[in-house]
Amino acid sequence: MRKLKGKVALVTGSGRRKGIGSVCARSLAEAGASVVVTDIDTSFSDFPNYKVGAGNELEDVAGDIRSLGGEALPLFADISDPESVEALVKRAKEAFGRIDILVNNAGCSPGPAPLAQFSLDAWNKTLAVNLTGTFLCCREVTPLMIEKGGGKIVNISSRAARRGALWMHAYSASKAGMLGLTSSMALELAPFNICVNAILPGDIETELKQWGLEMEAQVKGTSVQALKEEIAGATPLGRLGTPEDVAALVTFLSSPDSDYLTGEVINISGGHGLGNATSRPKF
Ligand code: NAD
Repeated sequence: MRKLKGKVALVTGSGRRKGIGSVCARSLAEAGASVVVTDIDTSFSDFPNYKVGAGNELEDVAGDIRSLGGEALPLFADISDPESVEALVKRAKEAFGRIDILVNNAGCSPGPAPLAQFSLDAWNKTLAVNLTGTFLCCREVTPLMIEKGGGKIVNISSRAARRGALWMHAYSASKAGMLGLTSSMALELAPFNICVNAILPGDIETELKQWGLEMEAQVKGTSVQALKEEIAGATPLGRLGTPEDVAALVTFLSSPDSDYLTGEVINISGGHGLGNATSRPKF
């Protein structure tokens, strides 16, 4: 059943085919929603070796959705820029007249660095995208949701929000900030029938994760493959996650099936941290 028929979703950071955002956008479209796919089109040159921005891929992501019979509108926007977010939401409203679902997926991370060497510029840029960008999108979209009687907001935070991540101070802090924002928005917006939830992905196989693993492998003097095996070994479900795993949860949180859930923070990490399932004693 197409539970999101007639709904309009906006998914930030959804312009890259291998990213979590584009897979979420596809999943929402498969459930019947019209989807605004949006991403930044430039790159932060000061995040070494990691390219941010969708470029031509944004149009491809929209094409993938259309080829599945869905409706997609590709729009470039920088979520850290208030005017860009305002223009994005204005265009989406002109096209569809409403936004019922907002998935705050866009995110970035500077390279890891010890605290004493962490640059203020990298700190500010990371918070500007991950935290302020989420705030700006919510601030712009919620009036439209209120106008139409409700909505769903899904904030894609990270396991690092709660556990931290070595040398990833700005990333962890920005993702933790998203949790405070989630709770306070859930409280304010519940009377308007808007549900706001956050999810904490663990290790999900995307370009961002691959880049993170390459950096980690370099620092630790090991290989990406060895790190992946280590992660899988520490994950009771025995593998890294996929963007599809995350998209299934996002689509649930965007659908009427989750109408009694708000202000929740949900791990999606294959049970990582519960212990090592493969080292059980034999009976
Ligand atoms: P990704 O880099 O493919 O996706 C992030 C997207 O955000 C990119 O398309 C990027 O261009 C976009 N973006 C960056 N800055 C932007 C800006 N200023 N305006 C608009 N868009 C911007 O990585 P991903 O792994 O698919 O990550 C998606 C989300 O999931 C991120 O928020 C990330 O922090 C989070 N996450 C990922 C993992 C993982 O293991 N992959 C784990 C935890 C959380």
